[in-house]
Amino acid sequence: MVPVDNATIVERLEAFAALLDVSGAGYYTSRAYRRAAETIRETKAPISQLVASGRVEDLRGIGPGIAARLRELVETGRIAELDELERGVQPELVGLGRFLGIGPKRMVEIGTALGVRTAEEFRAAARAGRLTSVPGIGPQTEQRILTAFERERRPQKRGLLLNRARALVEEIADALDAEIAGDPRRWADTSYELAVVRAAARPKAVLDAFERLPVIVAVAERSARRALGVSVDGVPVEVIVAEPRRLGTELVRATGTRAYVDALEPLPDGTDEAAVYATLGIPWCPPELREQPFRGEPPPLVELADVRGDLHCHTTWSDGKASVLEMATAARDLGYEYIAVCDHTQNVRVVPGLDADDLRRQGEEIAAANEELAPFRVLRGTEVDIRRDGELDLPDDVLAELDWVQLSLHAGQREHGDTLTRKVTEAMRHPAVSCLSHPKGRIINHRPPNALHLERVFEVALETGVALETNGLPDRLDLSGAEVRLAVEARVPIVASTDAHSIRGLGNMRLAIATARRGWATAADVVNTRPLAELALKS
Ligand SMILES: [Zn+2]
Ligand SMILES: [Zn+2]
Repeated sequence: MVPVDNATIVERLEAFAALLDVSGAGYYTSRAYRRAAETIRETKAPISQLVASGRVEDLRGIGPGIAARLRELVETGRIAELDELERGVQPELVGLGRFLGIGPKRMVEIGTALGVRTAEEFRAAARAGRLTSVPGIGPQTEQRILTAFERERRPQKRGLLLNRARALVEEIADALDAEIAGDPRRWADTSYELAVVRAAARPKAVLDAFERLPVIVAVAERSARRALGVSVDGVPVEVIVAEPRRLGTELVRATGTRAYVDALEPLPDGTDEAAVYATLGIPWCPPELREQPFRGEPPPLVELADVRGDLHCHTTWSDGKASVLEMATAARDLGYEYIAVCDHTQNVRVVPGLDADDLRRQGEEIAAANEELAPFRVLRGTEVDIRRDGELDLPDDVLAELDWVQLSLHAGQREHGDTLTRKVTEAMRHPAVSCLSHPKGRIINHRPPNALHLERVFEVALETGVALETNGLPDRLDLSGAEVRLAVEARVPIVASTDAHSIRGLGNMRLAIATARRGWATAADVVNTRPLAELALKS
């Protein structure tokens, strides 16, 4: 038998995770498979050999359950449960269900009860009044579903995370040779609507191609120059086919928020955006700023190319997947001048944390990496927890040795605003602290922002010189764009960081910078656009 290669294993585990999501398994179950896939993607040794020699559980994040699935896959070439899920799940119905606000499992149940497998059949059954024949569906639910069909552009409760939204809309735009628009073009934290715009004299071929895309599970509406489909993630996707002389017009209209666009209407015809803005007599506006009505001169926003380093990342010393040298080499290859290694301290508990001894030993490894990579510079840092008692989770003498200290609160996010603010601002006064990480503590779609009083934090930041982070993890983006804007107005310096836990994670800098741009930040507002010599290093 041909041995199963790592790429195939990654692909199968990711499919498994997606189907677990769709079948309504818990978030943590599917996440475990995604993490395992990520680990294997970065593992050089053939997994089939590790399985054969019984060593696969040595890999990070691979427990007995996943190991058993890997053994099955390597030995038989398939995972029986995955095949079963693939047979049972009807992605088109599930996509439509998300659009209607019905959970995946329930949607499949309803589909089975109605004897329908496609979105079209489901709609027909609903319109024929058959929904109430399904156990558990009363007239009220029926009405809710029928109304939802009429209000097809109703926003979902949960938006699509920015990294996924960008990937999806970029894929669709590429396939149709179109321009991206909608929420992800503004780099919104979450997307409720994706859109692409394409110029074509004859729209039919474009709309047909759109309907055939594998990521579009159902088309809800279609007219001469426009179609509205539902993506595999359950988020509506609109395709607009503009007459060539109006491409710019439709692009402006499909990009800004309703409030932004309404304030510019009536929009003149234009083959591109520049022409539209020129006719309006106002400067072109970067998509990130098209949230609120605005006709003025935009500031020169910070750009990805301005970034000279990443000041918050993790390594295998805590919960990262790459070594100090690997992370640093990757950062150097991105054209950076520096990277700060900021692994967790012990208080964080859910992942391995470093104590004083560990940090000193890590210091030796960092010194060696610096020798190898000079003039590139690896900074000795930490992501130090604020403990329950308000103290920092490392002794002062160790903190004093470090170049860059990220201050973090990982527990107690639900505390009262006054208590929380007092605790955080007091910790910010420690002389070793450089930057406050993910200040609002939100996890998008999972945990709301904490009650920290930002105005008070800004005051203390200005007094102490502590910067505030905008964290580029797609489910954090914290500070948010609107909060960055408040900080920038208060003249508080911002650090755009990735909080990378792998080499690939360094790529989230584009999300951090986009969020800073949504906060109207210029390069001067962003600390890590400065050369190394101008960083306020602590040691
Ligand atoms: Zn953190
Ligand atoms: Zn971190």
